[in-house]
Amino acid sequence: MIAERAKKIKPSPTLAVDSKAKELKAKGFDVVNFGVGEPDFDTPEHIKEAAIKAIKDGFTKYTPVGGIDELKEAIVEKLEKENGLKYGKENILVSCGAKHSLYNIAQALFGPGDEVIIPAPYWVSYPDQVLINDAQPVIVETYEEDNFTIRPELLKEKITKKTKALILNSPSNPTGFIYDRKTLERIAEIALQHNIYIISDEIYEKLIYDGESHISIASLGDEIKEKTIVVNGLSKSHAMTGWRIGYAAGPVEIIKTMTKIQSQSTSNPTSIAQKAAVAALKGPQDSVEGMRQEFEKRRNYLVNELNNINGISCRMPKGAFYAFPNISKVLEKKNNGKNIENSMELSIYLLEKALVALVPGSAFGAEGFIRISYATSMENLKKGIERIKEAVDALK
Ligand SMILES: *Cc1c(COP(=O)(O)O)cnc(C)c1O
Repeated sequence: MIAERAKKIKPSPTLAVDSKAKELKAKGFDVVNFGVGEPDFDTPEHIKEAAIKAIKDGFTKYTPVGGIDELKEAIVEKLEKENGLKYGKENILVSCGAKHSLYNIAQALFGPGDEVIIPAPYWVSYPDQVLINDAQPVIVETYEEDNFTIRPELLKEKITKKTKALILNSPSNPTGFIYDRKTLERIAEIALQHNIYIISDEIYEKLIYDGESHISIASLGDEIKEKTIVVNGLSKSHAMTGWRIGYAAGPVEIIKTMTKIQSQSTSNPTSIAQKAAVAALKGPQDSVEGMRQEFEKRRNYLVNELNNINGISCRMPKGAFYAFPNISKVLEKKNNGKNIENSMELSIYLLEKALVALVPGSAFGAEGFIRISYATSMENLKKGIERIKEAVDALK
């Protein structure tokens, strides 16, 4: 009855932990939620005002499928000013969130027989967006000692005649690490040699710490720019997850195809949200920087505390709002004589015993780790960390 294509994919595994946490919360338990993947801040006021104005002005009808000119122009300007990327409006598609842009890319580029290389740990939607288009995800491992960035020689090993694309995500969800220029140059060189596309998910670009900066692989040269589709959006940078505005920038032919696909599925992103996005991109950016600074403080606190827990070690991530600690030593311990076998079992133990919700590394293709989101208040971080410490110390 159900199409084979649809049977290949699973619901987002991060939601499984979330629903268990909500179930406990509904029963009256005081659960600390470290599982969330969205900023806890409110959307800045001037952005909300722009949306309210759009409603009052009656800007409530269909817009062009790929977004209004005003927003495309704001995106073109942003990409040039902040990323050193020169595009025209014809290179831009605005979608209902970056996830939707990624989905449109997958539909435009992938089909039966295609292989798509995805570095693990990966964001949960990448493999499934490849699978639902009847293409094959090919996972390339990355290692903690490399800050979870690809080893170029391992990437090369995965390339076959069928390889269509590589999906990059810097800063990364779930690891929080970023790619440096040298590694990006190596990856670009390999991609050009083998004629494969790069899909560059840069949604956490604004959340980078320790004075480091973001580099878009597309900015490394005209040749690689022609093979790259840059994906970005406002959800993480401007605390606008619910507004559903993301965008893609890339070669005209691909963008045209993606726009055609969007025209047969969702049509335009919400008219009101597009006006809000213009305000977000063109208005004052001090709230973006304010949120970044707050995230940096929380990161410093969280990672230091994690390293004080026996059996847990955590490298200092450079971006996004996640810590990705190594818990392999905890997995050697026992709970009342019973082994805790993997990151999923540890997550369930921490939820039941300590009332802390977080996501097992296995959800991201990386056993031996857990993901902790610090998109939550300092007070919650303190409470959650104390509980994790106590629960881990109780293991023998
Ligand atoms: C949150 C997230 C997205 C999607 O964001 P949208 O809300 O759809 O714009 C894409 N990629 C990664 C890695 C994310 O964490």
